Amino acid sequence: QVNAEIVAVGTELLLGQIANTNAQWISEKLALHGVNVLFHSVVGDNLQRVHDQFEQAANRSDVIVVTGGLGPTDDDLTREAFQLLSGLTMNEHKLSMDKISAYFEKQKRIMTPNNKKQARVFEDATVLENKVGMAPGMIINRDDKVWVFLPGVPKEMKQLFSDEVLPYIQNLSEENTIIESRMLQFIGIGEAQLEYELKDIIAAQTNPTIAPLAQLEGVAIRLTAKANTKDQAQQLITDTQQRIEGRVGSYLYGINNETIEQRVFQLLKGKNKTVAAAESLTGGMFTDRLIAVEGASSVCPGGIVCYDTKVKEKLLHVPTHITKDIGVISEECADSLATNIRTVLGSSIGISFTGVAGPSCVDNHPVGTVYIGMVDDMGKKQIEKFVFRGDRQSIRKKAVWKGYELLFN
Ligand code: ATP
Ligand code: MG
Repeated sequence: QVNAEIVAVGTELLLGQIANTNAQWISEKLALHGVNVLFHSVVGDNLQRVHDQFEQAANRSDVIVVTGGLGPTDDDLTREAFQLLSGLTMNEHKLSMDKISAYFEKQKRIMTPNNKKQARVFEDATVLENKVGMAPGMIINRDDKVWVFLPGVPKEMKQLFSDEVLPYIQNLSEENTIIESRMLQFIGIGEAQLEYELKDIIAAQTNPTIAPLAQLEGVAIRLTAKANTKDQAQQLITDTQQRIEGRVGSYLYGINNETIEQRVFQLLKGKNKTVAAAESLTGGMFTDRLIAVEGASSVCPGGIVCYDTKVKEKLLHVPTHITKDIGVISEECADSLATNIRTVLGSSIGISFTGVAGPSCVDNHPVGTVYIGMVDDMGKKQIEKFVFRGDRQSIRKKAVWKGYELLFN
C-alpha cells in the first residue's frame, strides 16, 4: 500500500488569499486510484521552511507531491529547497529552454535571465512536459521515495498530473488497485447502537473498511475493500457482511440502493399477504411508496386518505365516541382505522397513521405526536405512539418510515 502526502508551497495560501484547491483535487484523484493520502501541508515561500517540510515528508511518506514554487521569480524556491535536502545537481533541460526562448521570441519580449530558472531540472529526474505553461514538472525517485514536483497554476498542475503522474503512480501501486464498495441499509437500529454492536469488528478491520453512516432514513454501513480483482474485493466484502449480519442481521433490510418499500414488498409477496393503509397525516405517502414498486398490485389493493374526521367516520367507520370524545389523535382511533381499513379493502394487514404534523398542536397533543396501528389476519394487533421531531414534512416522512419498520419486523 502506497502512502502519499501533498505539500503546497506558497505564501498566498498561508495568507488565505487562495484556497489549497490543488491538494483537494490531487487527493481526490489519488484516493480514486487506491493511494492513501495521509497528510496535506502548506508552507510559505521560505527556503528553510520548505526544506524542513520536505524533510518531514520524506520521513513519513512514500510519495510526496509538491505543487507551486517552480516559476521564474525569486520567491519560487521549491527547487532550491529540494536541492538543499537531496544534494542533487540541476541541469538545464534543453527542450524546456527552447520552448521558453521560442515563447519570448514570439511575444517579442526580452527574456530576463531568471526565466532560465524554469528550465532547470534535477539530474535523473523524469521531466514532465508542461503543455499549458512554461515550467516542466518532475518525478524523482530517490531513497525509495517518489518526489513529484508540479507547477502551482491549477491548469498546468492538472494537465501534468493526469497525463504523467497518475500513470506513473498506478504502476507503483499495481497491487490492490481495485476498489469496491457496498452499502448495507438498516432499519430500526440507531447509529450508536449499530456501532456498539460491531465495535470489535470495526476496530479490527482494515480491508474492507467499515464506515457507519447516519442517513435521512435509517442507518447504513459502507464496506470498502481493496484487492487485485473485482471478485476478490467483493469476496472480502461478503465475508465481512456475513460477520456483521451475524450480529445485527435482523435490522438489515437492503443492499446499496434497495429501498425499504422494495423489501417490504418482497416480504409480503413471499408470505402471500396484502396491506392497505388508512392515512391521515401521511396523506397517501405510505401507499405511494409501496405502489412505486413494480408488481405492487399483488400486495396492495389500495388505501384511503382519511385526513378529515368526516372521512374517518364515513369511509372508515370510526365511531363518533372516538372522534368526538376521545379524539382522532389517539390509540383508539389508530386501532379503529387499522381494523376497518382491513375489512373495507379486504387486505390481510391494515395499517393506520393518525397524528399531528404541525405546525400547530391539535387537541393539546404536541406537534409530532403520531399513532400508528397495525392489525393482521392472524389476530395480531400493534398500536404504537411516537413523538417525532422536525417540521411538518419530516414528521410525515418519519411516520411513513416507522410504518415500514413495523411491517418489516
Ligand atoms: P508560476 O510559474 O506561475 O510562478 P509556480 O509553480 O511558481 O508557477 P506558484 O507561483 O506557487 O506556482 O503559484 C502560481 C499560481 O497558481 C498562484 O498565484 C495561485 O493562483 C495558483 N496556485 C498555487 N498553488 C496553489 C494551490 N495549492 N491551490 C490552488 N491554486 C494554487
Ligand atoms: Mg510562482
